[in-house]
Amino acid sequence: MDPFTVMNELRISAPLFEKLQLHLFPGDGDEHGAVICAGMSETDRGLRLFAREIVLARDGVDYVPGQYGYRALTPEFVARVSNHCARQGLCYFAVHCHGGDDFVRFSDVDLESHQRGYPALLDITDGGPIGALVFAHNAVAGEIWRPRKVSKLTKLTVIGVNHRRLYPEPVQPTRGFADVYHRQSLLFGAVGQEELRKAKIGIIGLGGVGSLINEWLARLGVGAIVAVDFDRIEPSNRSRVVDSLRSDCRDWLLESKIPLLQGVGRRLARYKVHIAERVARRANPNIDFFPIVGNVVDEKVAKSLRDIDYLFLCADTMQSRLVFNALVHQYLIPGVQIGAKVTSDVDIGDVTDVFSVARLVLPYQTGGCLLCNQLIDSAKLQEEALSPEERRQQRYVNDPGVHAPSVITLNALGSAQAANDFMMGYLGLFDTQEAKIGYRMHDALSRTWRSADCADTMNCLHCGTSDRSILARGDRASLPCRNV
Ligand SMILES: [Zn+2]
Ligand SMILES: [Zn+2]
Repeated sequence: MDPFTVMNELRISAPLFEKLQLHLFPGDGDEHGAVICAGMSETDRGLRLFAREIVLARDGVDYVPGQYGYRALTPEFVARVSNHCARQGLCYFAVHCHGGDDFVRFSDVDLESHQRGYPALLDITDGGPIGALVFAHNAVAGEIWRPRKVSKLTKLTVIGVNHRRLYPEPVQPTRGFADVYHRQSLLFGAVGQEELRKAKIGIIGLGGVGSLINEWLARLGVGAIVAVDFDRIEPSNRSRVVDSLRSDCRDWLLESKIPLLQGVGRRLARYKVHIAERVARRANPNIDFFPIVGNVVDEKVAKSLRDIDYLFLCADTMQSRLVFNALVHQYLIPGVQIGAKVTSDVDIGDVTDVFSVARLVLPYQTGGCLLCNQLIDSAKLQEEALSPEERRQQRYVNDPGVHAPSVITLNALGSAQAANDFMMGYLGLFDTQEAKIGYRMHDALSRTWRSADCADTMNCLHCGTSDRSILARGDRASLPCRNV
């Protein structure tokens, strides 16, 4: 399977998947049924479905001996749940289980029942997509119905501390890998190396933090990177941005005594995403690199990240945190926010705190939602939404973000934790008994690592499940972007 083969994918959070598995495989070896209500999104990479709710069919009440097959969902159950999906703008997917472990397919009776029932269901749900999934313990097959088009599910991705991927049958790596990956593949195998090659990863911010992540992902053998940053390099960034050169800053112009030429130099300096592209291509000439000169706060830019597999937030504005958190929850894309901060006592001038942080955010309650953990400050959000002129009037001139201390070694600590969490989780290598989700913070003054558990608030509009939340809605909700 090539990375950009068009795929039909269902994404589901680990807690929801566990709920489904317990219902389908309680240990009685019998067939059980349920419905997944899902959001959706369609891009060049294919159709993505996002499990938002699971409605379990009660044995003997909603899931009964069938007229044609062994068991079937009752017409009442189908009507109730499909109407719910239609009202909520969600896609209806009937689920049942077969025996077996690594291989699964629909029976002829299953396929005939789709033919009988799904044209009407497409009408009820305004064109779907709708369909069905059949599970074995470690495999899934699916049929996706849209008007005039029936297609197959390619894979199911479970997003938790570890990622898990289920297919109709075991997938073998389609090709070997280059010698450069030999040593790391001793840890995660040819299958892991292939997963990295097929991965498309987003990085928001290619400055001090993002440029490190970018180099490491490219060297790991990640197949595609989408890099978002609107900034050009300047001399004061060069102590932190990987492989940034004096010539990228147009130093011969900046060093001119003529102010006009200095201005030209600043305007011609290389964009940070283009420096990142050069770094990534040197590390891996086969990489697909998508540099985007833009701000993730703009909807068009944010939407270009909706088909990625993992997201690194390496820019520290409240607006970018808000959009990042929405992308994670709305499109079930796991992510991590990385930062480093130095605070000092203004009166005595002493440094009071020096820390680096990696905040893993998984798309479910208690998964690390930045909104639930009070990490998206609404006062600062409003402040950032002001124009430069308005900000000057309101005396935000000394924006601490602009002249705050920033050091490559501090950036490296949070970045390394985040990149390693990606590698371990994405390839399913964590010891799930021991590895807990939560934020990791390094205090440089005391030389200690600390963990912070994550809170969740009732009815959160991102990670919650109330009717108003954006969780797993995909394209059927809007992102909190500014209109341009
Ligand atoms: Zn069946
Ligand atoms: Zn939340």
